[in-house]
Amino acid sequence: MALVELLLHPRTSVAVTRVAALVHKPPPVIVSGLMNTKILISISVLALALSAVSVVGKSTQEPKPFPPPKHEPAVVTPGKAAGDPPSDALVLFDGKDLSKWRATSGKGEAKWKVQGGYMEVAPGTGDIATRQEFSDCQLHIEWATPSEVKGEGQERGNSGVFLMERYEVQVLDSFENKTYFHGQAGSIYNQYAPLVNASRKPGEWQSYDIIFKGPRFDEQGKVTERARVTVLHNGVLIQNNVEIYGNTWHDRAANYIAHGPAPLRLQDHGNPIRYRNVWIRPL
Ligand code: MG
Repeated sequence: MALVELLLHPRTSVAVTRVAALVHKPPPVIVSGLMNTKILISISVLALALSAVSVVGKSTQEPKPFPPPKHEPAVVTPGKAAGDPPSDALVLFDGKDLSKWRATSGKGEAKWKVQGGYMEVAPGTGDIATRQEFSDCQLHIEWATPSEVKGEGQERGNSGVFLMERYEVQVLDSFENKTYFHGQAGSIYNQYAPLVNASRKPGEWQSYDIIFKGPRFDEQGKVTERARVTVLHNGVLIQNNVEIYGNTWHDRAANYIAHGPAPLRLQDHGNPIRYRNVWIRPL
């Protein structure tokens, strides 16, 4: 009987299996139950070791997202109290004089009052601006609206912090004083309402901490990157990295007009707003 016929014969199924195994496969390795257990343990240990190697390998061999920084961060001594200027800040107003400021109309001396460690808007004398120009920056500024409340809405304690002369973070007495939401204290004027109203009472000192990134323009003067701003009002986040849509006009839609570094400007809106402890860190 030929081998194939023998393999296919119905009566010899057991023999067929044995013969087939002999013909087509290497002889089976016969191991005792003890040996099986040993092999299983060995395989498990090997698998564990391999997985351990792969975990270790992952933590040391994973590509890093960025090359490591080459420059050590500069040492900056923070101010003693919260709101005090750190060692690398440029103090724009320390309560003594307006030497860092000028009038925006006519470019002459700033005519606001300086007394008691603060400057105060002299209504009708116009806005004032820093003599120096800035772009990206961290700014700290403290302000107080009059303790004697006069007027309503936009007419009560109005002034403004204009970043790069153009982008206004609104200053207003917004303590129990209703107005349009993107015009209240801490709004990016006519664009964004503050996230919350963190206003103190009229006459009390308040603070803005502002982180600002100026807009970028291409050679044709078209904006390629809008300005961005984050604002904390009395330590409370009120603008979270919002994109400014352009100049914060009061009477028309925001738009960008290409510009370079520009002064910080404070607004004379006809109300005697006080400012103190103004410092900036160009970024
Ligand atoms: Mg204003």
